[in-house]
Amino acid sequence: MSMVQKCIPDDYHASIFEIPYHLLKKQGITTLFFDLDNTIIAYDEDQLSKREIDFLNELKKDFKIVVMSNSGYKRVSHALINTDFMFLWHSIKPTKIGFKKAIKKVNETKDKIMMIGDQMMTDIYGAHRIPIKAILVGSVKRSSDRKLTKFNRFLEKIILKKIMRKEPKLYEERLSEYVKDHAL
Ligand SMILES: [Mg+2]
Repeated sequence: MSMVQKCIPDDYHASIFEIPYHLLKKQGITTLFFDLDNTIIAYDEDQLSKREIDFLNELKKDFKIVVMSNSGYKRVSHALINTDFMFLWHSIKPTKIGFKKAIKKVNETKDKIMMIGDQMMTDIYGAHRIPIKAILVGSVKRSSDRKLTKFNRFLEKIILKKIMRKEPKLYEERLSEYVKDHAL
């Protein structure tokens, strides 16, 4: 699989609330790795809302959940303060280091794990390097992106163009809606 192919998500949904989790369960997925920033909450929010906590707690009845963030301990532990989800900080996605740690934490085989995140260059590419499957979600609030993320978004635009050229069918199926949702 080429680098460009590794950036193509297995699916896209506008938010974490719209993913058909019952189908994932049917496919044998037992474990969900969630990115935090702009996947569950915006960068300028510091804690999960009751809605987000309730939603993830409901999912926890069917799945093992790990929140896997590139942010530091303070940010991640504070965001999850009213929850008991497993979490990893400084995950250094898209390297394999954090993914390997998270897999060890849940003691699960790779084919049963789904990564869910808002960034092609870290969440999707990183997951596919392991490889585990990965769903792209729309960003909670893109204007809150930080500097490094803004740079990743710039790379993402280049990759999107390459995918459109090399894999037009997959682009149409999995990314055209994403591009439309974010007016890229
Ligand atoms: Mg993110």
